[in-house]
Amino acid sequence: MADPDAPDEGLLIDGRRVPSASGARSPIRNPATGEVLAYVAQAGVDDAQAAVEAARRSYEGGAWRRATPAERARVLLRLAELIRANAEELARLESRNVGKPIGESRGEVGMGADCFQYYAGQIPTFGGRTVPVSAPGTGLTFREPVGVCALIVPWNFPFAITTWKVAPALALGNSVVVKPASATPLTALRLGELALEAGVPPGVLNILPGPGGAVGAALVTHPAVRKISFTGSTEVGSGVMKLAADDIKRVSLELCGKSANLVFADADLEKAGAAVFSVFGNAGQDCCARSRVLVERAAYAEFVERFVERTRALRIGDPLDDATEIGSLISPEHRAKVDGYVRKGVEQGARLCIGGQVKRGGAYDAGSFYEPTVFADVAPDMVIAQEEIFGPVVSITPFDSEDEAIRLANGTIYGLSGSLWTRDIGRALRVVRAVETGVISVNTSWSVHLEMPFGGVKRSGVGRELGPSALEHYSESKSVFIAEL
Ligand code: NAP
Repeated sequence: MADPDAPDEGLLIDGRRVPSASGARSPIRNPATGEVLAYVAQAGVDDAQAAVEAARRSYEGGAWRRATPAERARVLLRLAELIRANAEELARLESRNVGKPIGESRGEVGMGADCFQYYAGQIPTFGGRTVPVSAPGTGLTFREPVGVCALIVPWNFPFAITTWKVAPALALGNSVVVKPASATPLTALRLGELALEAGVPPGVLNILPGPGGAVGAALVTHPAVRKISFTGSTEVGSGVMKLAADDIKRVSLELCGKSANLVFADADLEKAGAAVFSVFGNAGQDCCARSRVLVERAAYAEFVERFVERTRALRIGDPLDDATEIGSLISPEHRAKVDGYVRKGVEQGARLCIGGQVKRGGAYDAGSFYEPTVFADVAPDMVIAQEEIFGPVVSITPFDSEDEAIRLANGTIYGLSGSLWTRDIGRALRVVRAVETGVISVNTSWSVHLEMPFGGVKRSGVGRELGPSALEHYSESKSVFIAEL
């Protein structure tokens, strides 16, 4: 469905919105309706070169890097306020571009504003230290910015993840080029405009929509890029790491997950059952989705029943409706992939309790909706229990002992997130230490906090975003020794 009235959106390079060098542009659609939201310029290798050069010039020029901590903090606080002033517009744009419920988008935009506020607050506190050394003189360390950073973002949380990367990078004086996912560039472009309005100098924040295989790779291999922060699939992330190896670029990777929700029989089962959103939030397109639920056998039957009933009550529909809890998947292609996993689960003998179909009829037909799907009696080696589905599909599996629960939780190649439900504090402490994961929560599904490190182990990634950890990512330590005269 073409729309001649949809706006044209240029790239953001050196503080200006510009067409791509080749003139290429691509329609960006609302996955819930098929409507064209905008035609967005598609960067190529030449544009990547121009954006990195703009970032390099702004870095070397020093207007941002050498601004005082108080000046940089003031600009980031202003940006936080501008995001808040435009929050409803940004949230609606995010929901229309991603197909996610407006309530979720409002939360993510609010978190984005808080992220700039948090890192503005960190600026005056983050620095080097004096070090006692075994020689006559003084040892000092400085924290220096890294230089030009390439920040590569996926389509599932386009605004929030952009802010997680941009805020700490800018806080420390770096200049950056953001590569949004091809399907979801709109809120990142708007963020770039708000940053200019807040006083971020031209060239410090460049936004470059375009195909990852060409533009992403051009950024990763550009000699002036010193640091790459990538969020996306393990497969592409592994390729990024290899490309970055020749120049020894700094790389942090936030990748796939197959996280577990461990429910012990002594847990508050009503609360644990209400944790449907830990897997169905963002229609399951969440790297932290607890897509495996492991339940102690004594509580298994009751838990499955409660979970299925809560799933039945979920409201699927128009992402812009305040009451909607599950929106559209990102595209028909992605929905077909999710459906393929569901067929595989049925074929391998998992018990399909609810869902398992494309959601059809009326307005659903224009979008990529899928019924929230619960499988029970899932064997740990089934494909649906091992691979990241990235859709509204959960696998429930019983266990008989704490040791077995830990073994099952650790039985995938991933280790990103997880939750644990029990009233026994001793068990909680034992299990959180034993589960191989970067993040885990007890008696809640809520595990991502701006102030705490976030990231994965095993093939879920390397490095930590958020909290003070992100400041380490975007700076280098320099040791200085001053001899006593
Ligand atoms: P993806 O296909 O790996 O793409 C991620 C980003 O990389 C996109 O901007 C993509 O651009 C770009 N890209 C593609 N090929 C590239 C290349 N050769 N070099 C450099 N960049 C390249 O992932 P996605 O489908 O957008 O996102 C979903 C995945 O992200 C899921 O697997 C999910 O688990 C993961 N994720 C992880 C976290 C976390 O924090 N651990 C958070 C959110 C999502 P195009 O869009 O143009 O292809």
